[in-house]
Amino acid sequence: MTENTSPFERVMYELKPRAVTVKSIEDLTPRYRRIVFAGEDLRDFQSASPVDHVKFQIDINGESIRRDYTPRAFGDGELTIDFALHGNGPITTWAREADVGSTATVLGPRGSKIVHPVFDAFVLVGDETMLPAIGRALESLPQEMNVLAVIEVDKAGDEIALPTSTNADIVWAHRIGRVPGVALVSALATANWPEGDVFCWAGGEASAMRDVRRHVLFERDLPRENLGMSGHWKHGESNFDHHAPIED
Ligand SMILES: Cc1cc2nc3c(=O)[nH]c(=O)nc-3n(C[C@H](O)[C@H](O)[C@H](O)COP(=O)(O)OP(=O)(O)OC[C@H]3O[C@@H](n4cnc5c(N)ncnc54)[C@H](O)[C@@H]3O)c2cc1C
Repeated sequence: MTENTSPFERVMYELKPRAVTVKSIEDLTPRYRRIVFAGEDLRDFQSASPVDHVKFQIDINGESIRRDYTPRAFGDGELTIDFALHGNGPITTWAREADVGSTATVLGPRGSKIVHPVFDAFVLVGDETMLPAIGRALESLPQEMNVLAVIEVDKAGDEIALPTSTNADIVWAHRIGRVPGVALVSALATANWPEGDVFCWAGGEASAMRDVRRHVLFERDLPRENLGMSGHWKHGESNFDHHAPIED
């Protein structure tokens, strides 16, 4: 570590539901949709960490459905969320069918775990569901910070532009229909792991994250406290709880 300060800080926010309306929709790839929401309730929206999440809520036949999403961008009464259009979960179906004027509710974030950039380098790992966090980190980490990003998408056409002023090595891995995580871990294993004290954020399919964790802890000797990892979804399981422990 380059400075003798605590690298971690926790901030909490008032947890309130915010009514949001779709302002614009942009397909960044055929399977990755950016939706900008607007709403007066968003004027005091806060999110201090790239890996924060909100509960995105819709109501279907009187039942509230909620899933976790990363605030990709926000400000001036707007909130941008990037949706991986993966299959036919209820929120993904909603995102696929949304139009300008469609409405939803956003809860949170409840708080942020801030990781101060006192590390020599950051490693960002994940699939399409981690892309919003990776994009935010690449935009917000200090200029010239050494960053390795290893990202799994299905194929080359699913890659998106990731603007950054960091010194970033961005490695794309292609699933091409294989089990999630196989391409990711193999790309991670051959990537140039940065020198010095590293912090790693990782998110994606839960079993893939178990393999990523093994790799970074045991092959790369990353200290456990320098890993912020979340299982974002689990193959074959609807509404996976990301608080569930990732098994060893
Ligand atoms: C902290 C956090 C942040 C997240 N941020 C984002 C984000 O910014 N953007 C984003 O797109 N997702 C994000 N996710 C993941 C998202 O919450 C899940 O993918 C969620 O399951 C989608 O809900 P659904 O209603 O579409 O599907 P569900 O009803 O939950 O699942 C239906 C079926 O689809 C499968 N499935 C779910 N997600 C995927 C997927 N990505 N690929 C393939 N199959 C899938 C499930 O295994 C299940 O079989 C995040 C998750 C967490 C925990």
